[in-house]
Amino acid sequence: MRRGICVKCGSDRIYVLGAYTAEPDLRLSWRPTLKADSHFLVCHACGYVERYLNADRLHLLPGIGTPLSEAQRQAAGG
Ligand SMILES: [Zn+2]
Repeated sequence: MRRGICVKCGSDRIYVLGAYTAEPDLRLSWRPTLKADSHFLVCHACGYVERYLNADRLHLLPGIGTPLSEAQRQAAGG
């Protein structure tokens, strides 16, 4: 989505959905929490979905994720 416009179809009917699930698939903490770690932007016209970490959760990423360059190095056997 760019400035409230769907990058796939050009519609401006964009909705925001919190990513709440009983077992989050994008988890930044192993402690149970009712606070969403991410949210979706969904185009009502074509169904295109983007997902973003919530700004107040970004600081948790380095503790639980793997930097892309390191993951690529590992995949290459290095
Ligand atoms: Zn769309």
